[in-house]
Amino acid sequence: MAALLDLSVTERTTAPPDIRVSFEFFPPKTEKMHEQLWQAVERLAPLKPKFVSVTYGAGGSTRERTHDTVVRIQKEKNLAAAAHLTCVGATRGEIDEVARTYWEAGIRHIVALRGDPPEGETRYTPHPGGYAFAADLVAGLKRVADFEISVAAYPEIHPEAQSAEADLDNLKRKLDAGATRAITNFFFDPAVFCRFRDRAAKAGIEADIIPGLIPVTNYAQTHKMSARCGASVPAWLRDVFSGLDEDAETRRLVSATVVAEQVRSLVREGVRDFHFYTLNRAELTYTICHILGVRP
Ligand SMILES: Cc1cc2nc3c(=O)[nH]c(=O)nc-3n(C[C@H](O)[C@H](O)[C@H](O)COP(=O)(O)OP(=O)(O)OC[C@H]3O[C@@H](n4cnc5c(N)ncnc54)[C@H](O)[C@@H]3O)c2cc1C
Repeated sequence: MAALLDLSVTERTTAPPDIRVSFEFFPPKTEKMHEQLWQAVERLAPLKPKFVSVTYGAGGSTRERTHDTVVRIQKEKNLAAAAHLTCVGATRGEIDEVARTYWEAGIRHIVALRGDPPEGETRYTPHPGGYAFAADLVAGLKRVADFEISVAAYPEIHPEAQSAEADLDNLKRKLDAGATRAITNFFFDPAVFCRFRDRAAKAGIEADIIPGLIPVTNYAQTHKMSARCGASVPAWLRDVFSGLDEDAETRRLVSATVVAEQVRSLVREGVRDFHFYTLNRAELTYTICHILGVRP
């Protein structure tokens, strides 16, 4: 609970003018999800994000949908849009072709990832003839065209990494291969991010490391998701959501309060860039941006 109690500890009513935000969406599957995505994009676009990004489904399952969504957002909303791309289930030639198609469509930013195993599989196995890890993909993309490239980072260590040091070395390899920034997996305790940023700086990493924030409204779901990707869930988060299973409205308010506290702590620590996992919903992200001083 301590993290929530110091919500009032804030020296300013508006954010520093140099706050930059980016928003992540996923490609919609159904007509209803399509509507929800576009409502979210409409609502968030006036906040002038530095970029927005669109995820790539496990195993490349959303190749066309990701492509169409990214290109449409960039064209119709005049936003810099980035396409996520993974190594899973495709040869190098196939991935290079996807990248070329993006370049020809005017997309200049790729979020390059290894990807998780396709549904039903528990272990990642590189595709024979594919890019094995994200660092290989970054190098391959740079050979296709001079993309701006973002990569993933894990403040609490990637679950398959041999050690914290090996994981940091891997991040360094991705940046050395041509990535310009890292976006972190989500986390709940701002101190976790700050410690990681310090370790990265000590390891000689100079590129921007952008905290990835997730406005959660469902504790059980968050717990499941966190276990999969190696993010820890503090006991106070379970406490603040307990008793609210049937009360979606209060859960939303609690969620906004939790993330508002996170961002205020991070701003105090000098963080100026924030990446929001919007889950294709605008309201919480919009609210938190407002608190940060990011307004239309
Ligand atoms: C910001 C962000 C966006 C994401 N978007 C998507 C998305 O759109 N689609 C999707 O499917 N997933 C996405 N993911 C999830 C991501 O694909 C998984 O976390 C995946 O398990 C690791 O991807 P990576 O790019 O970090 O992999 P890598 O950087 O390749 O690392 C994966 C693991 O392998 C280890 N490793 C790296 N190189 C080697 C080597 N040579 N030998 C041995 N071990 C090595 C690393 O330490 C790490 O443990 C995203 C994650 C983040 C943080």
